[in-house]
Amino acid sequence: MPAVHICEVGPRDGLQNAHHLMPTEAKKEWLAALAGAGLREIEVGSFVPPKLIPAMADTGEIVAFAKTLPGVKVVALAPNLKGFQRALEAGAHKVTFPVSASHAHSVSNVRMTPDQMVEEVRRCALFPHPGVEIEGAVATAFGCTLQGQVDENEVVRIAAELAGFCDSVALADTVGYANPAQVKRLFGKVRAQIGDKLDGAHFHNTRGLGLANALAAYEADVRSFDSSMGGLGGCPFAPGASGNVITEDLVFMFEAMGVSTGIDFDKLMKARQLLVKGIPEEPIYGHTPLAGLPKGFAAR
Ligand SMILES: [Zn+2]
Repeated sequence: MPAVHICEVGPRDGLQNAHHLMPTEAKKEWLAALAGAGLREIEVGSFVPPKLIPAMADTGEIVAFAKTLPGVKVVALAPNLKGFQRALEAGAHKVTFPVSASHAHSVSNVRMTPDQMVEEVRRCALFPHPGVEIEGAVATAFGCTLQGQVDENEVVRIAAELAGFCDSVALADTVGYANPAQVKRLFGKVRAQIGDKLDGAHFHNTRGLGLANALAAYEADVRSFDSSMGGLGGCPFAPGASGNVITEDLVFMFEAMGVSTGIDFDKLMKARQLLVKGIPEEPIYGHTPLAGLPKGFAAR
């Protein structure tokens, strides 16, 4: 058993925010390589209206394909009951629902207040979904580009509501505002309320603090992390900034610390080549892929 669990979210969070489209067949090749590298959970797409996000139009086909990869938990994002029903039809193993703690972000993103969105997720949880896991992800938990500060008490309150009917709850730094002190404090506050239902940290590397925040979360007893290969994606509000915390660097950090990830770094580099092949115009990032592993480095 790996000591930490890494969920690759590049196919969803990365490609959804990329400036170019990756063809469906290329996505499949990439997903197979990610699974081959040892990733046991992959967020493969989102069930949002294809007109809004064309990059996610093939999510149903991609979920079906990903289910053929042995040992992989296939995750999809859904913003409402309609998306949830599509995810169930496609056969996703786990569905994640973003619930923004920022009132302004929530209204602009899903045209619902945070409380209305909590009710939407409750409606989904009440809808029959045998064997399918439901995760509530508190988005903009560390700050918001629209309203600035987000009240920590509001994050704790929403997380506690979600814990009432979700299998797990994650905290997401959707816009890359978090810092390590804040990460430790907020994960501690939420854990004090919902205990082990708190299971997942989602950071963006917008200000270069992705790894520092992941380490702070690890020190706050978090063992499940989202990351994206090549830090794929990007924020239109921060030119030059990368997307999620970078899978390759996160794997290196943990393995170098003696914390096993279950991921094979050389095979991860092969998957990275397929990512570049599938979407060659898109900038990708990563320190360890450029520098290589240190001499004599042995994974745990
Ligand atoms: Zn994200």
